[in-house]
Amino acid sequence: MDLTIRADLDAIPAYAAGRTVPGSLKLASNEISLPPPPAVLAAIAEAAVSGNRYPDPGVTRLTARLAERHGIAAERIAVGCGSVLLCQQLTQIMCGDPGDEVVYAWRSFEAYPIVVRISNARTVPVPLDEEYRHDLKAMAAAITPRTRLVFLCSPNNPTGQAIRRDELCAFLDEVPPGVLVVLDEAYREFVTDPDVPDGLTLLEGRPNLVVTRTFSKAYRLAGLRVGYAVGAPPVIAALRKVYPAFSVNSLAQAAALAALDYVPELLATCAEVTQERVRVRDELLAMGFAVSETQANFVWLPLGELTTRFAEHCEREKVIVRPFTGDGVRVTVASADENEIFLAAARKFQSLSS
Ligand SMILES: *Cc1c(COP(=O)(O)O)cnc(C)c1O
Repeated sequence: MDLTIRADLDAIPAYAAGRTVPGSLKLASNEISLPPPPAVLAAIAEAAVSGNRYPDPGVTRLTARLAERHGIAAERIAVGCGSVLLCQQLTQIMCGDPGDEVVYAWRSFEAYPIVVRISNARTVPVPLDEEYRHDLKAMAAAITPRTRLVFLCSPNNPTGQAIRRDELCAFLDEVPPGVLVVLDEAYREFVTDPDVPDGLTLLEGRPNLVVTRTFSKAYRLAGLRVGYAVGAPPVIAALRKVYPAFSVNSLAQAAALAALDYVPELLATCAEVTQERVRVRDELLAMGFAVSETQANFVWLPLGELTTRFAEHCEREKVIVRPFTGDGVRVTVASADENEIFLAAARKFQSLSS
């Protein structure tokens, strides 16, 4: 008999990562362009000495440190191999029956439809509104008795818009208690709008809410793969059950722990980025581009049919941006010098087009 691999896997789109092109500036993956601080590099090197040993499967020290930092019990925190894998674990703990549904905004983080399909559940994408924001009324209306989970991404990747307190709380009040809401706050450290709540402050009294955070962006550890989920103890206990054994490796654990000693320095870089994003957006608007508001470390240019042409032009100018064919381009806001290189490329695109 022939080998039969799950036929539904054919329908799963491959995750298209931002490309790295030698000699070009990469503004395609929302990373911070600085390396981790020297003390974090030293902690990684020290952990490598014990590379012959398995990592702590319970990620005990890092979990305890995060609990202390956020003033939250350790039983409410699950560390994972990046928040992407935590998203997969979250769908795994909620979805098991064919026909289970997962609601999320679209366009949003590309990992959501992938992890939903891997878990054999049905994707229920709900279009963003005309300002590229989550349409929470439409998302609430998309919830059915089959809905098991809702992903919210705030600020939203790739459009940059964040969900404000009033609309978020109204939505959370409307979601049935049997549906898990996952608030993905990968870009929380870049939020400056006071009307955008810190998801961790909303957990009290909401056992069906989980907040995810990552060390990949503000903490400069995208290559090391560490994220964490904060929620009610039963949800966290379930996440630990489906945790792929030893998936947060010992270098990653040591690096994240060491990075937590440098929070003020790391956040200072985020503050520079948030100042730069205002300048970058203003300059793009002045050049005649449409650019949505952003609370993240990237800008969204809804270029529609011009998307591919713009991305190819940038690549010729040695800047790698992230195109979403037919929709728009996401560009990471980096240091002032790097942003200048991108802005020059954008200016040239406009002058060639006019
Ligand atoms: C970058 C990003 C993450 C981070 O994922 P990791 O697996 O922790 O690197 C999570 N969610 C969104 C929306 C992102 O853009």
